[in-house]
Amino acid sequence: MPSPVGHAIAGVSIHLLTARDRRDLVSLRHAAVAVAAAVAPDLDLLLRFVDGRNHHQGASHSITCALLAGGAVALAARAAGWPRALGLGIAAGAGWGSHLLLDYFGRDTHPPIGIPLLWPFSGGYFKSPWALFLDIGRTLDWHTVRHDALAVTWETLLMLPILLAAWWWRWRRREG
Ligand SMILES: [Zn+2]
Repeated sequence: MPSPVGHAIAGVSIHLLTARDRRDLVSLRHAAVAVAAAVAPDLDLLLRFVDGRNHHQGASHSITCALLAGGAVALAARAAGWPRALGLGIAAGAGWGSHLLLDYFGRDTHPPIGIPLLWPFSGGYFKSPWALFLDIGRTLDWHTVRHDALAVTWETLLMLPILLAAWWWRWRRREG
């Protein structure tokens, strides 16, 4: 499963792809919503501190939750009187969805293996047979830190071309 670094780069790409025009493109709020949504599903790791049990890769890693996140952001933005509330909702839903996509293609060594994409409609866990991303260790010994540094470098190398492609596509559209 990719680290927050890989998810954040995906979030910036989603910001570029979902920005409707130049105003969205330079909107810090639009960018922040996309990046926060791309990283947010892993906040379930913190639930361990609440009851001591592992909640990682639970309901937050489902399409249902991505849709709910998008809807909640759109409604909250509208309630707050922010302009372009629907666009922010779309950025949030797409950012959350990018997290699921990256995790789907990640190497997973912590049970449960895979992610419950179709929760609550199916209890199945889904995972690509080919892993593009390395797993991230969660201990603080030298071996794990070295492995994680390698994993973060690798996912950055994988994600940068996607970010550049999104930027290039955006730039071309603005020119045309
Ligand atoms: Zn995740």
